[in-house]
Amino acid sequence: MTKITPQPGIMDIELYQGGASHVEGLTNVVKLSSNENPFGPSEAAKEAFRKAAFDLHRYPSTDHASLREAIGQVHGVDPARVICGVGSDEIIAFLCQAYAGPGDEVIHTEHGFALYKIGAMANGATPVEVRERERVTDVDAILAACTERTRLVFVANPNNPTGTMIGEGELTRLADGLPPQTLLVIDGAYAEYVEGYDGGAGLVDRRDNVVMTRTFSKLYGLGGLRVGWGYGPGHVIDVLNRIRGPFNLSQAALVTAEAAVRDTAWAEKCRNDNTRMRAWLAEALAGHGVASDTSMANFILARFPSRADAEACDEYLKSEGLIVRRVAGYKLPNCLRITVGDEPSCRRVAHAVGQFMGDE
Ligand SMILES: *Cc1c(COP(=O)(O)O)cnc(C)c1O
Repeated sequence: MTKITPQPGIMDIELYQGGASHVEGLTNVVKLSSNENPFGPSEAAKEAFRKAAFDLHRYPSTDHASLREAIGQVHGVDPARVICGVGSDEIIAFLCQAYAGPGDEVIHTEHGFALYKIGAMANGATPVEVRERERVTDVDAILAACTERTRLVFVANPNNPTGTMIGEGELTRLADGLPPQTLLVIDGAYAEYVEGYDGGAGLVDRRDNVVMTRTFSKLYGLGGLRVGWGYGPGHVIDVLNRIRGPFNLSQAALVTAEAAVRDTAWAEKCRNDNTRMRAWLAEALAGHGVASDTSMANFILARFPSRADAEACDEYLKSEGLIVRRVAGYKLPNCLRITVGDEPSCRRVAHAVGQFMGDE
């Protein structure tokens, strides 16, 4: 027996399962399991990435000033209080490392993103799951679960995999009701899909206990590049910058993300397409007897009568070359999460679900 052992908690972490991407023996497969932008990144972003090939021998910027400036201009935030990371995953990891350790509690919601729990356990902290109300974040339940050991509260808004969100008033009530040692993290991975929503940036500006995380992986179509960012009060950003590696982001990632955020026309086109196809898909599924909550993100959580139905539908979709996501691990065994793809993909999904339900 080896005496070389990791820190407590680490071996209790279950390995993260990514969305599948291929089906044996089938071509014309569509991946709708990872909430990726079906159109990919903007042309300007791709061009910036190509150009970056000529500078690969140079070390990247350590302060990310140019990308933070662009984010500040486009999203209306103070660039001095932006921190960039290897996906928002890294910002979440920094927050857990900086604020939660053994004996501390980290709150996440019942159907919340898996990384909050992983981040807590990786640092020896105790993840605390709080129930949702009909697949919606319940502020009162979160406040009731807070103790003097609560250090972080993670809320994704809109949430993944439910697609639901709570309003600005509820977020404010949550921030104001937390114990003094507790930091609220609003994960805005899908904020860009919500017309007129700032992802919580305004609340960050008005409070000293709120941090917002954002990503280039969803609307901006750069999941493979790994760039995310956080926005918070100066005292928090200063802490996170101390544990951030000086060269955490490559120059290729920095310039590509900057070009992507500046291409607001592409972002708007993608948002509008998603809104249109999401409504179409939700209605088509409902027409086949498959219910879903109103989604504010780029996916739909399709609800089936039972776990067996959801699994059988998943198998059928797979046989038709359509890969969607099972979410039993998110305590939603009777549901499938379906990314809103381009129009042909949405039509294929709706048709196949209709066939499965015996309608077509
Ligand atoms: C996809 C997603 C992220 C983004 O992770 P990245 O590391 O930025 O790719 C963060 N939070 C939630 C809830 C997500 O669904």
